[in-house]
Amino acid sequence: MNKFLSLFAALILVACSSTKQVATVDRAANALSSNMELKIPVASATSIATDVAFLASDDLEGRDTGSDGILKAASYLRERLENLGVKPYEGSYLDPFETEKVNGFNVVGMLPGSDGILKDEVIVIGAHYDHIGLIDAVEGDSIANGANDNATGTASVLAIAEILTKLDFNRRTVVFAFFSAEEKGLLGSKHLAAKMKAENKNVVAMINYEMTGVPMVDTPYIAYLTGYDTSNMGEVFNNANIKRIVTGKLEQAAQYQLYKRSDNYPFALEFNVPAQTFSTFDFTNFDHYHKVGDEIQHVNANHMAAVVDATIPGLLDIINKSLLKMKTP
Ligand SMILES: [Zn+2]
Repeated sequence: MNKFLSLFAALILVACSSTKQVATVDRAANALSSNMELKIPVASATSIATDVAFLASDDLEGRDTGSDGILKAASYLRERLENLGVKPYEGSYLDPFETEKVNGFNVVGMLPGSDGILKDEVIVIGAHYDHIGLIDAVEGDSIANGANDNATGTASVLAIAEILTKLDFNRRTVVFAFFSAEEKGLLGSKHLAAKMKAENKNVVAMINYEMTGVPMVDTPYIAYLTGYDTSNMGEVFNNANIKRIVTGKLEQAAQYQLYKRSDNYPFALEFNVPAQTFSTFDFTNFDHYHKVGDEIQHVNANHMAAVVDATIPGLLDIINKSLLKMKTP
């Protein structure tokens, strides 16, 4: 009997002494069968801080799509994916696109699914890595570094890729997508969603990370989910994590229609599947949105690692088990 089975047996013995703990045991059994026996690695705050520090450095000049700075960001992301053992998406990590406004490219990798049937279902995990570049100078600083927006989401997706490659357990295929030109109208994600649709990819869910660098104020959950009522995604993330409340609904997110304002939305439109964004920007906790002050000293790598760790059980559930459902309003 391995130690997980013995832990399971012990849980049952404890639980049998009290009927009210039956539900607890059910959850533990589910967790053991799906997640805990995998010994889930934890996110490294140091690694996350290193990624944010590079992406938000002055050298990258705010990662404007089409600039030299974003080229450096793209080659960094490509190298990170390659070193983690994430494969290029359909033969290439770079996914170029041309529009009237700008030419750019997404950086995309994949982990092919291990299950003979479920591998044809694709989970896209993404974040935009571009920002707004150079803007009007404030006290001699004209670089909008975009640390929180969205080096944080980008670093979080890298941390997730690191955990998933270490686990080496994904029945469905996982695509990691770093989008360009989000700031110019979701151009990179529109391109990739349309391309995957044209390739007949069966995308069944899209999970996006945006501005996760600063903790929310006074919420029982760690990150809100945009478009909360559009699907059962929030419930699945909360049920999968037996340690904490992962997510909830933020009124301002609905008020400002954030569901339609980030890279999740083109996937919702193309595939009509649950496609939503995790964020911890709550409209009160960050004063540097689209300003030159959006720099690394204002973001918290321990918090970002905690967001990743909180969402991993839900991601594993979606990647290996539950098929998310849309909700009719
Ligand atoms: Zn953003």
